[in-house]
Amino acid sequence: MKIAVINSGSSSLKCKLFEMPSKKMLTQKEIQKIGEENSHIHSHAEALEALEINFSDVDVIGHRVVHGGEKLQKSCIIDAQVVEIIQDLIPLAPLHNPANLEGIKALKEKMPNIPQIAVFDTAFHASLQKEAFIYALPYELYEKYDIRRYGFHGTSHAYLTKEAAKILQKPLEELNIITLHLGNGASACAVKNGKSMDTSMGFTPLQGLVMGTRCGDIDPDIPLFLERELGLSAEEADNLLNKKSGLKGICGENDLRAILLREDEHAQLALDVMIRRIQKYIGAYMVMLERVDAIIFSGGIGENSTYVREHVMDNAIIKNIQSLVIQTNEELEIANECYRIIKSRR
Ligand code: ADP
Repeated sequence: MKIAVINSGSSSLKCKLFEMPSKKMLTQKEIQKIGEENSHIHSHAEALEALEINFSDVDVIGHRVVHGGEKLQKSCIIDAQVVEIIQDLIPLAPLHNPANLEGIKALKEKMPNIPQIAVFDTAFHASLQKEAFIYALPYELYEKYDIRRYGFHGTSHAYLTKEAAKILQKPLEELNIITLHLGNGASACAVKNGKSMDTSMGFTPLQGLVMGTRCGDIDPDIPLFLERELGLSAEEADNLLNKKSGLKGICGENDLRAILLREDEHAQLALDVMIRRIQKYIGAYMVMLERVDAIIFSGGIGENSTYVREHVMDNAIIKNIQSLVIQTNEELEIANECYRIIKSRR
């Protein structure tokens, strides 16, 4: 079975082709700068043509979709109703869901007869219980406006969980781990008996760990202060917290490789704040899980930076836990999901 995995971003379209069940990756292509000023690619439909991928022998197309909300908690075949729900969720993921829909629409138009499957970043966290996902806000904000913790990077945390079970030779249902997806975006997940029990990202991907340019956890009064005292608009505050904070906010850049080469105070402080935050989550999750089989490092930083891994583990309590480095593969996890769904239908 041939599976095309599509990751459609606001200005990029990435495609990987897999042969299943061998999991062999056949092709990998990417178009960037869609719709940008000096780009000759104006839309996702044009990007799809520019990819020059022969879809005629593809059996199924899998799409990464960032937000599935409460209605779409499992990977599913995309029909008109699913498209409508993804559309309805745009207010919760204003940057991502529209871009994901562009990809879905472009492929539906080009290849109307190939089944398409949506795999959601939020789905792995559907197992969160209410005490993990309800914010201490007026309850009607949850009931009326769906304001709650959703969590993201779920496809990665799910993949890491399955890989860790294989490495540790433990049944998934008995596996308790803490997965750390540390890339430009970063999140931690407490996995109990193979399921997500808690995760650091929240209503949006802004909450939790210190990221490349996102602040992660802050006092919720800070954006209000920025608006009240500095006169920032909601949009400006959003931009400051999402694009100008995190490692970049503290030391001026977000590329960890460059930060590690610097010897100045701000670079060191950015590393220290990021590492302290990761340890804080590990500590909290250790208490919640009661038994932790392993801490999993992944993502560009988790996979490659010995400095970050060693400093996170350099703690009298944390160092007693086994740590593993696992290369994440969200596209393969999406292909696995597609294969599972199509096989179960046949
Ligand atoms: P994204 O969230 O954009 O997918 P990645 O998972 O690719 O991000 O991670 C990007 C981060 O990983 C960057 O901060 C980059 O500097 C860091 N990184 C990549 N390779 C290395 C390396 N060899 N050593 C340290 N950091 C690295």
